[in-house]
Amino acid sequence: MIPFPEHSLEAEPYYLPVGGEVEIFEQCHARKLAVMLKGPTGCGKTRFVEHMAWRLKRPLITISCHDDLTASDLVGRFLIRHDGTQWQDGPLARAVREGAICYLDEVVEARQDTVVVLHPLTDYRRVLPIDKTGETIEAAPGFQLVISYNPGYQRMLKDLKPSTRQRFVALDFNFPPFEQEAHIVRHEGNADYATAQALVGLGQRLRLLQDRGLAEVPRTRLLIAAARLISSGVPVKQACYSALISPLSDDASLLEAMRDLVDATF
Ligand code: ADP
Repeated sequence: MIPFPEHSLEAEPYYLPVGGEVEIFEQCHARKLAVMLKGPTGCGKTRFVEHMAWRLKRPLITISCHDDLTASDLVGRFLIRHDGTQWQDGPLARAVREGAICYLDEVVEARQDTVVVLHPLTDYRRVLPIDKTGETIEAAPGFQLVISYNPGYQRMLKDLKPSTRQRFVALDFNFPPFEQEAHIVRHEGNADYATAQALVGLGQRLRLLQDRGLAEVPRTRLLIAAARLISSGVPVKQACYSALISPLSDDASLLEAMRDLVDATF
């Protein structure tokens, strides 16, 4: 069983560039530089890396980080079999051998002793030492390390160490400008353009509620979810309440303020 998703992407994953991120990533790939995609959840980081893997014709191995993730989960382990033990590469080791793009999503969730395994892959050495076998794997051409990092999230509890973050070129992700976000919502949400524009306008007004204590503001992903419900026949306001508002807060006064904004939009 392969525990982590790995795929060669055949169809182009739709991605609308917002700045020069495609060109910069291509340069990083050509120059063997590791990349950090920085920004809140739901802003297109995963879609971007899928698109870049497709563009660069590299397999993509994605690892969702969590606080139980060990170095062995990344590098590999000996499996006990009836006739002895056998080494099995982890997803990082496979990516290094195969020259894949290895995407570690939400890397800050992983423990520090897990993250340090990445260090020798991010400098001129481009190697992965495997302590348990004594092997040192040299990264195949095309291998690239990409991490995503949400700076605001759990900032007081967890953060990336400077010794880790200075090994990456950082690309910032945030809300796309109005017109671009409307195109994305139309495409991904299967919506007509007027509805997409109205949803993005509503999203922008909801985002202003951050000043009134709304901790999580709606990202593009939620606008797309609302558009999908609308295009499948759910009444517009109901779709907004369910997909756009209710996930964001449990606070009665904030929910009321958000409902008022929906009612004023549609
Ligand atoms: P993240 O990895 O930052 O949490 P995702 O890549 O999963 O976010 O983005 C959420 C959704 O938003 C994607 O599935 C995609 O539909 C859409 N999206 C966001 N930004 C873009 C963009 N620039 N181009 C195309 N789709 C986008």
